[in-house]
Amino acid sequence: MIKELHKKLQSKQITSMQLTKQYLDSIEEKDGEIHGYLNVLKDRALKNAQEVDEKIGKGGDLELLEGVPCAIKDNMCIAGTKTTAASKILENYVAPYDATVIEKLNQKGAVYLGKTNLDEFAMGSSTENSAFGVTKNPYDNERVAGGSSGGSAAAVGGNMAVWALGSDTGGSTRQPASFCGVVGFKPTYGRVSRNGLIAMASSYDQIGPITKTVEDAAIVFDAICGKDEKDNTTVEKEDASFVENLKPDLKGKKIGLVKEFFGNGLDGRVEKVVKEMLEKAEKNGAELVELEMPMLKHSLAIYYLMMPSEVSSNLARLDGIRYGLNESKKSKSILDVYLKSRKAGFGDESKRRIILGTYVLSSGYYDAYYKKAQSVRELVKEEFADAFEKVDVLVSPTSPTPAFKIGEKAQDPLEMYLTDVYTVSANVGMIPAISIPAGVVVEAGKKLPVGLQLMGKWWDEQNMLNVAAGFEQL
Ligand code: GLN
Repeated sequence: MIKELHKKLQSKQITSMQLTKQYLDSIEEKDGEIHGYLNVLKDRALKNAQEVDEKIGKGGDLELLEGVPCAIKDNMCIAGTKTTAASKILENYVAPYDATVIEKLNQKGAVYLGKTNLDEFAMGSSTENSAFGVTKNPYDNERVAGGSSGGSAAAVGGNMAVWALGSDTGGSTRQPASFCGVVGFKPTYGRVSRNGLIAMASSYDQIGPITKTVEDAAIVFDAICGKDEKDNTTVEKEDASFVENLKPDLKGKKIGLVKEFFGNGLDGRVEKVVKEMLEKAEKNGAELVELEMPMLKHSLAIYYLMMPSEVSSNLARLDGIRYGLNESKKSKSILDVYLKSRKAGFGDESKRRIILGTYVLSSGYYDAYYKKAQSVRELVKEEFADAFEKVDVLVSPTSPTPAFKIGEKAQDPLEMYLTDVYTVSANVGMIPAISIPAGVVVEAGKKLPVGLQLMGKWWDEQNMLNVAAGFEQL
C-alpha cells in the first residue's frame, strides 16, 4: 500500500495534498462515531503535504514515507502539540520536544494526520480506560477496537490513516491490530528508541507500526529503528533494510506451535481460523512443529507483577508540580497538591496499577515479588532460546477472542488482563512479534477480524517478517 502510494506521488498521479485531504475527509466523515483520534492536526498535515508537493514539483526524489499520511498514538511526543496519554493529568500538556521516532519520521517526510486514542498511559486492552472516551471498532461499532493502541488500529482499519504508530508493552500493537483487521508489530526490545514515548513499564515498552500489510510494517520499521544515544537500552545493529530484504517465505520454515496457547479459554471459532491458516501454510511447504513451553504460562503473572511496579515508579513524576494538572489552588500543603492532583488526574485503572506496583516494590515484598518475577522472566527467556534452536518462528492466535462488546469486560480487571494471555510472553521474553489478519468470524451478521501471531528470535525480525509475508499471501 505505501509503495503504491509512493509511486503515485512520485509520478505525479496524485499529490500529497489530495491524498492528505482524502484522509482528512475520511476522518471527518467517520471519526465522530469511531473516535480513533484525540487530536486531528489538520493544519500541520496540510502544510507538510504542501511541502512534499513542492519538492516533487522541483523534481525531487521522495522517501517511501514522504507525503504519506499517518497517525501517531497520543503517548508519543510531537513538539508543540498536545500529548495526553489519554489522561486527565496530561490533558493540557504540550510536548516541548519530538520523540526520537518522530525526529526520524520528520526526516523521512511523514505527514501526521493526528494523535490517536489509547487506554490511559497505555494501560488496558480495549481503549475503554481512555479519559476521553472509548474508541469503537470500525467493523462493529458496538465493539471495542482493542487496546491500548485502539485509536491507531481503528484509524488504519477504518481507512482514516495509511499507517500508524502504536506502542506495545504487553500486546498493545498486536491485539488491537487483530481486532481491527490490520498488522501490528512489536520489535525486539531495544530496537526502537523509547525517548519521547511516555513511559509505562520501561523494561517492556516498545514502539511499533500498525499497518495494512507486512511490507508496510517493514517500511515503517526501517524508518524508526536504530540505536539512539538518548535511550541506553537501544542497541547498535547492522543497518540492512528490512523492506529491501523482505521476501515472503514459508518453504522449509519450521513453525513452532505452542501447545499451551491452543488450550483452555481459546474461542473455538478463533482456533478454527488460525488452524486453517496453519494447514494452508503446511501445504505451502512450512513444517509445523508442536512444542511444549511450560514456562509461558507464568508470563501473565510475571507481567502483572513487574509492569505495575515499573508503572508506579514511572508515574510518580506526575505529581501536579512538574507536569500537567495542578490542584494547588485547592490545596493547603505540598502533600495536598500531590494528593489532590493525582486523585483528580488519574483514572481508576492507573490508580489500581500504581497501588499494586507500590505494594510489590515496598520493603519486605520486593524480593518476594519483583525480584522473583524477574528471575522467572529469565526462565521464560531461556525457554524461548531453546525453542528457537528448534524452530524459525512460534505461532499462536493473537487474542483468545475476537473484539468483545464495549462494556463487556470493563467491570472485571482480571478478565481484561486475561485477554493478554498470548501477547505478553513476547514482551516478557523481549522478542519480536507480529499479528497479521488471518480471517474473520461472523457474529450477528458482522464480520469480526481474527489475528494470527508470530513470534521470532531476538533481532531476527527479518526472518519473522518474511514468514509473516508468506502467511499474508495465503
Ligand atoms: N493490555 C496490556 C495491559 O493492559 C498491554 C498494554 C500495552 O501493551 N500497552 O497492560
